[in-house]
Amino acid sequence: MIKYKLKCKNCETYFDSWFSSSTEYEKLKKKKFLNCHFCNSLNIEKTLMSPSIFRSKSSDEISIQNKKYKKIKNAISDYQKFIKKNFKYVGENFAHEARSIHYQNKKDSKGIYGEATKEDLNELKEEGIETKMIPWVKDNMN
Ligand SMILES: [Zn+2]
Repeated sequence: MIKYKLKCKNCETYFDSWFSSSTEYEKLKKKKFLNCHFCNSLNIEKTLMSPSIFRSKSSDEISIQNKKYKKIKNAISDYQKFIKKNFKYVGENFAHEARSIHYQNKKDSKGIYGEATKEDLNELKEEGIETKMIPWVKDNMN
């Protein structure tokens, strides 16, 4: 079933109508079976679906989404602050540094953080080196 919003060009009234398909609509229109519910005019045209479907989100919904997003972003940025304070940044050397800590058994070393590819992480995992992937928000993002 498909719902069209039809417009009567005669009395400028909109009304909804259901059809089994878009071709059924064309057929009925050709046979002049489509008439205005209000003035019976045959001067009917199809408008783009029901506007309610395309209605843009109300500002309320958007602000709720923004709040949710801000909350998540704040949580991530708190986490980042913690990591920056307690972990050593090794940038793209992450896989290398993680290995040297693991194999040299550096017990006193700080945890590290940095960038690694998925392949790096898979390899580290195979070697028994625990890593954790976290979402990261760039500082310059608002
Ligand atoms: Zn009409």
